[in-house]
Amino acid sequence: MTTNLKQALKTHFGFDSFRSKLQEDVVKAVHRGDRDVFVCMPTGAGKSLCYQLPAVLAEGITLVISPLIALIQDQVDHLKELNIPACSINSKLLANERRLILADLGSSNPKLKLLYITPEMVASPSFHPCLMDLCSRGLLSYLAVDEAHCVSQWGHDFRPDYLKLGELRARLQGVPCLALTATAPKNVQEDIIQSLKLSSPLSFLTPVFRSNLHYDVIFRELLPNPYVHLHAFIKKTLSLGAGSNGQGCGIVYCRTREGCETVAHQLTKLGVVAKPYHAGLKPTDRTGVQNEWMQGKVLVIVATISFGMGVDKANVRFVAHWNLAKSLASYYQESGRAGRDGLPSACRTYYSPRDKEQINFLIRQEVARKQEKRGFAKDSDKTAMTDFEAMVSFCEQEGCRHATISKFFGNTAPNCAGACDYCRNPKLVRAQLERAAALSTK
Ligand code: ADP
Ligand code: MG
Ligand code: ZN
Repeated sequence: MTTNLKQALKTHFGFDSFRSKLQEDVVKAVHRGDRDVFVCMPTGAGKSLCYQLPAVLAEGITLVISPLIALIQDQVDHLKELNIPACSINSKLLANERRLILADLGSSNPKLKLLYITPEMVASPSFHPCLMDLCSRGLLSYLAVDEAHCVSQWGHDFRPDYLKLGELRARLQGVPCLALTATAPKNVQEDIIQSLKLSSPLSFLTPVFRSNLHYDVIFRELLPNPYVHLHAFIKKTLSLGAGSNGQGCGIVYCRTREGCETVAHQLTKLGVVAKPYHAGLKPTDRTGVQNEWMQGKVLVIVATISFGMGVDKANVRFVAHWNLAKSLASYYQESGRAGRDGLPSACRTYYSPRDKEQINFLIRQEVARKQEKRGFAKDSDKTAMTDFEAMVSFCEQEGCRHATISKFFGNTAPNCAGACDYCRNPKLVRAQLERAAALSTK
């Protein structure tokens, strides 16, 4: 079967191999068709193929739910280029196009392989009977729900229409369901499985553990001079090794523009050239700083979180958070910009209870503002707070930092092997917590 799948991968998609072992495993599981499947893989990992390849090989039609017409259009165009019969039924479709599709679906031997729809279409009176008819004739091979986190109130992309999918799933008796999302916290994963009524699904999760990242947490208030401390950290991490990509570099994240300016100034005074990057700069200056950093002319960039989206630099030796990240998920993403080349790299948070209070306050304010605008409270309002609390416990608890992150994303605890401060020296971590506690009661 493996060779068949590999062959089909080449024949239909032109790929010589699977992207990853995980992608191959998912395709195999979906192709077997005897279980529901849950897939959590980062953006760009090739999730679409996980249903597209089995869809091509199946007898019937695969129904794909995706939240946006633009996303759907992209995929349908791509499949058509590959000569794979795919189309979408949506509100923008012309009446005769729609008639042609429905005629094909109603025929005894439909040609279509993949049918994409938005969740609004699911309950549409003109389409629903067609779907049930396909199902009763055994012509629905799979139900694939892409961007499945949209079903979760915990997610940041909640779409009420996705809630109808649970009901749909329940009606499509005997059709295996596949839910796909990018790396999601465990509570979102659980929500997806429950809302889509997946029955004991096989789960495939990309491991979040990266053994070359060394995490630690430093209580800023306990330091006689935090800037000197940060400077020493930078010196040490930048000398870790140049690697094949030349001299390493790093990122310091600050919450505010003023923070960026101050930290950059202090570091430069101490002898490490560091430049600020934030929304207060003119766009040309911002691009200038980013380019200098990308080219290795400036080794340290001190930035707000607006920096880093789409930045892919291999030799980032450290990511330091001068202020607390607003959630553990964003912290994982931001700190994960370190060590893309696989070499040892350091991820440090400078923690401060005062920061905690401030961010806590800001999050509450933001939630209150949203509620006022909306006119009522929602369960999902709590999300921002619980996500932040996860970040706080990452800093405040005694335990492996890697394990905390892995568990947050629904992975089992990895073998840290000294890649965090706690595993290296638990006594130091405890001592720091005790000193911080003593300081706060003074
Ligand atoms: P995701 O949905 O996980 O973000 P996509 O399904 O959009 O990712 O795929 C990302 C890119 O990877 C696409 O350009 C796709 O064609 C490509 N891709 C997927 N599988 C393979 C493979 N086995 N070999 C090479 N490229 C692949
Ligand atoms: Mg995708
Ligand atoms: Zn550890």
